[in-house]
Formats: sequence, C-alpha cells, structure tokens
Amino acid sequence: MSDQRLPSRSEDFSEWYNQVVLRAELADYAPVRGCMVVRPYGWALWENIQAALDSRFKATGHVNAAFPLFIPMGFLEKEKDHVEGFSPQLAVVTIGGGEQLEEPLVVRPTSETIIGHMYAKWISSYRDLPVLINLWNSVVRWELRTKLFLRTTEFYWQEGHTAHATAEEALAETMQMLDVYADFAENEAAVPVIKGRKSGGEKFPGAVNSYSIEAMMGDTRALQAGTSHFLGDNFARAFDIQYLDRENTRQFVHTSSWGLSTRFIGAIIMVHGDDQGLVMPPRLAPYQAVIVPIFQDDAEQSAVLERVEAVKAQLAAFRVHVDRREGLRPGFKFHDWEMRGVPVRIEIGPKDVAQGTVTLARRDQPGKAGKRTWPQVGLEHSLSELLAEIQKSIYQRALDFQRAHTVEPADYEEFKQAVQQGWARAWWCGDPACENEIKDETKASNRCIPLDQPGGQGSCIHCGKPATEQAIFARAY
Ligand SMILES: [Zn+2]
Repeated sequence: MSDQRLPSRSEDFSEWYNQVVLRAELADYAPVRGCMVVRPYGWALWENIQAALDSRFKATGHVNAAFPLFIPMGFLEKEKDHVEGFSPQLAVVTIGGGEQLEEPLVVRPTSETIIGHMYAKWISSYRDLPVLINLWNSVVRWELRTKLFLRTTEFYWQEGHTAHATAEEALAETMQMLDVYADFAENEAAVPVIKGRKSGGEKFPGAVNSYSIEAMMGDTRALQAGTSHFLGDNFARAFDIQYLDRENTRQFVHTSSWGLSTRFIGAIIMVHGDDQGLVMPPRLAPYQAVIVPIFQDDAEQSAVLERVEAVKAQLAAFRVHVDRREGLRPGFKFHDWEMRGVPVRIEIGPKDVAQGTVTLARRDQPGKAGKRTWPQVGLEHSLSELLAEIQKSIYQRALDFQRAHTVEPADYEEFKQAVQQGWARAWWCGDPACENEIKDETKASNRCIPLDQPGGQGSCIHCGKPATEQAIFARAY
C-alpha cells in the first residue's frame, strides 16, 4: 500500500510491471534469488485460473494425480533431446539425509520422464488407453535472469500427460488442449491469442511438434501463454511404453503433454493494466467488486455500515469485499483498489442510504466516465450485466490493440521496422538458419506459425526462398 504514483506504463513498462506486482501484493521476492513468494491476492487469482482450467480439463475427460518432486537423473538421460534441452536448467540433489546419494536426483523441471516410467508399468493393453492425467504442481528450472511471474526458478503450473493408441489420437488431444487454452485465455482472462505451431528451433525438447497460444502484451512484445506438445512415440520408445493392440501385436503408445503456468498472471497484468495499475478480468478477479463505505460521523457510520451489510448479502453470488479499514480516506481507498484492478467499486454514503442507491465505478473506465448511480433494488442484476460488459470491453480493447500492432510487411526493410513496434506476420521458408539470422538482426523471434493460414505461396521475407506458410515474428518475453 502506498500513496506514491506508479511509474507510467509508456515511460518504463518494465518498472511499471515490477511495481504493480509488488504494490498490488500479488507476489514478492524470495530470499533465494529467482524464486518468488505468491501473496494471497496473487494466489487467489491463480486459484480462479486453476478452477477455470480444471473444469475444462475434467469436461474433456482428464483426471488429476500427483507425481514426485524428485526424478532419478538417469530418467532424463533416456530421451536425448529432452536432457540436452533441460540440463543447463536443472537443480540436482546429491546429498540426502547427510549421505551422498548413489544416483543424483533432479528436482523436476517437467514430468515427462517419470510419467513415461510409470505409464510403461501401467499400460499393457489397448484397454488401458487412453490415459488422460493432469498434475497441478510446481517445477524448478534454474534461471539466470528472472522476473516475477514471467520467469522464475520455481513456478506453479499444470502439466497434462496423455497416452494414446495412435498418433492421430495423440495429435487430436494435442490440438484439443490448445483449443482449451485459447478458450480459457479469451473467455476467462479476456486475453486474445493466436494459436500456432512452433518452429523447429522453438519447440519443446523431445517433441515432434509443439503448439502454443501467443498473446500481445501492452508494450507489443509477445508472450507464450500456454503450450501443447505432440510427442509422437519419442517418449514411448525411450521408456518402452508398449501395449497389445486388438490383433495382439505389440505397439508403442503415442503421447502428448501440455502446460499453462503462473506466467499467465504476467500476461493478465501486461495485457490489461494501465497507468493506474492492474485491471482484473471480472471472471478471474479475486474480488469482482469492492464496497467502500463513506461517512463523516458516528450517526452516518452506523446507517451506512448497515446498508453496506445489506448490499453485501444481496451480492452473495459475487466475490465482493468490504473495505472496513479505519482511518483511511475514501479517496485513498478508491485509489488503492484501482491500483489492485478490482473491476467494480461500489460506493455507499449517507445520500445513497437516504435514496436507496449505490454508486458504481468501472475500473476499465477510470474517472467520471465510468461512474454511475444505480438503484439498490435489482443491484445483483445490474452488477452481473456490468461485469459481463467490462469483460467484453477489455477483451475488445486488447484485440484492437493486437490488430493495430500487427503488420504484414512487404519487404525485409518494412519487417525490421514492424518488429520494433509490434508483430510482423510474414511468409517464412521454414529454414532454422534463416530464423536465426532474423533473430540476430532484429531481436525478433519466430513466435509461431499460425494455424490460420492464407493458403497459396509466397517468398520468405528474409531470404526470398519459396515459402508455403506465414509466421509471426516479434520480440518476446
Ligand atoms: Zn528464409
């Protein structure tokens, strides 16, 4: 809590972000460098994200389970690309209970390997398939340059791991979960996303193909907000996950994995936030509305607080918080909840008590424009409509911003310009060397090859070779 002004978003986006996270009390720095403490307000947001995803996972047939934090080092070495990709980031335990361990243990950076080991044990027949398991846990990837929520050494996420009889089924699952993520992002978080396939250089270590949802942040940089991987039979071969099919022939299973993490909180902050601070999407906001009582003396106080309680009870279907803090001016409280991004502020003063009204202020329209007096009668309906309207309006604003900052450049000169100010969508040849040159020259990476393609053919924006697909290039988090 602080009266000090936030740094403005346009002046210093990065510092604005840090200050919003700290002052809104979403998270704090842990004593171990690169780790974060998620504070109750941030965790409440994460719990709402979890609930929205979990119900979607269950509706598509998945079940939750828990797997161990420690993985034998040898497991990671079984999949060549996987160990190569993750070894620079591993935390390894060599001592346990005061004794040197025979085999070092890795603190899980992700669970494909231990999942592979267990699935090999559990799967023997086509009747055992598919296996559709999701884990809610945290993982550790040693990071040198960290930023709260966006890149931390330990982070919270879910990881789904599925095994299927055929490649087609595993791929269908991979695409289904990409759709689930996009649906969650757009309809719960009001974050517009582009669904696409990762280039060879950007895919998950050990995957045949990786898919992602990419979102544009308020500074026009891209953020990979969720990933879904088609693993083919790579992990099945590494861990010998086989089953007997209907003809009694031994077959390798095909697997998928998919994850969305607390990084998504960073996306919510950077997509919707403004100079006043956070703007929470109503469907995920820890508090959808906050009631601020306004009074001068004791007589007013008791009448106002009585009305506040009645309104709170009337709004029992919503996540509503009453700001009962003593000795703070209402103006201070308004400012504080604005900074914390609560979608609707409900002011109740003596005049409202007398007239049977409340004053509602929309967070997405700061100042007088978003303020209106409403009758208390039927307030639950007005609030419900208002929250839905805010949800829609911040989504539309983010979508307009994304479209306004996405360019289809005509040549490489225009491309270089475009990626300084937003995203470039351009024909690309598919050559990893070409992708690397673009990155070296412009700092823009290949974010994804959108699933939605124009068709036909073009020539690569960088090397001019024939290209059959367009890709999105952008500077990224
Ligand atoms: Zn090229």
